[in-house]
Amino acid sequence: MEIAETARGILERLVAFPTVSDRPNLDLVEWVGAWLGARGIEMHRVWNAERTKASLFAQVGPAVSGGVVLSGHTDVVPVEGQEWHSDPFRLTERNGRLHGRGTCDMKGFDALALAALAAADARRGDLKHPLQIALSHDEEVGCLAAPALISAMQKALPPPRAAIIGEPTMMQPVCGHKGGYGYDVHLRGYEVHSSLLHRGVSAVMQGARLIEWANRMNEANAASPPGETAALFDPPFTTLHVGRITGGTAHNITARDCRFVLAMRVLPDEDPADWRRAFLEEAERIEAAMRAVRPETGIDITEVFEVPALRPEPDGAAETLVRRLTGENARHYVSYGAEAGQFQQAGMSAIVCGPGNIARAHQADEYLEIAQFEKGAAFMARLIDDLCRE
Ligand SMILES: [Zn+2]
Repeated sequence: MEIAETARGILERLVAFPTVSDRPNLDLVEWVGAWLGARGIEMHRVWNAERTKASLFAQVGPAVSGGVVLSGHTDVVPVEGQEWHSDPFRLTERNGRLHGRGTCDMKGFDALALAALAAADARRGDLKHPLQIALSHDEEVGCLAAPALISAMQKALPPPRAAIIGEPTMMQPVCGHKGGYGYDVHLRGYEVHSSLLHRGVSAVMQGARLIEWANRMNEANAASPPGETAALFDPPFTTLHVGRITGGTAHNITARDCRFVLAMRVLPDEDPADWRRAFLEEAERIEAAMRAVRPETGIDITEVFEVPALRPEPDGAAETLVRRLTGENARHYVSYGAEAGQFQQAGMSAIVCGPGNIARAHQADEYLEIAQFEKGAAFMARLIDDLCRE
């Protein structure tokens, strides 16, 4: 299979760029630009403010509406503290699996998309609708770059009929995902000896109150009967989570600082603004109690990421296309966030579908099964046929 072979060569190169989200990705972007340029395909860059990273997009075929955009991200999660059995930044085949950081999430799909672009270009004369690709950066740290990428694409290219976001789904159509909202919380307390704690404010103990509010919300959400959309998700309710917390200096000093990130995974049919409001109101109540003891104390809250949910669009253009190409009729829904909601928010019909198992993503010895890679390549070949037909 031609696409699979080309894509394998590309994947080898993409994995070799250690594009962890906190590092620049320009080497990868320039390599892709040169690879596309050698085939006469023009690549557009969308820089970040510091010009240390870029997203990219490209199109082949006629400049008409009704094409399909393949969307991926170029960044990967770190490997620190993980026990790898081969160099994470070297593509290594073992037992029918392609190991390497990003093989599954989601350079495997990126490579297939690039190979598909070249294959579509070879049939340029037959294409009735264009094939577009969009590769972002900073996805793993909150889908930060996709909005600018999408708006630049919308200015430069005709609107596509569907956006396929190639996160690992085992090539199953994923028709909805929850939204993700992250808040950086900094409680500023007041230090005194803990024997006199009534004269101080422990930022840690007040932070615990705010986290306990999140616990209560989770319990209440879990206890209420799920609606029609909620029932599609596992778990079938909005969840609030604190994964890391820092603060305090000693067991006998009321803590001056406490910091954590509160992350919400919100169902597509709930308004994230309601959750934000409820959270800020609770923070205000706690802050008022802190200030009653020490007026200089307080709680600072900053939004760090905002990823809209993907609302299911039954019989939408993206779902119809992907079901036809995969032959999969079941609809799937996931609780993690992805860029699909951002494409949908920009007015496109969007779906998540890509090779590999999400359970392998972000792990030591991350891998993509060759069978999945080939399934992805066959999907691309059918997609190109489709673009030539209609
Ligand atoms: Zn991903």
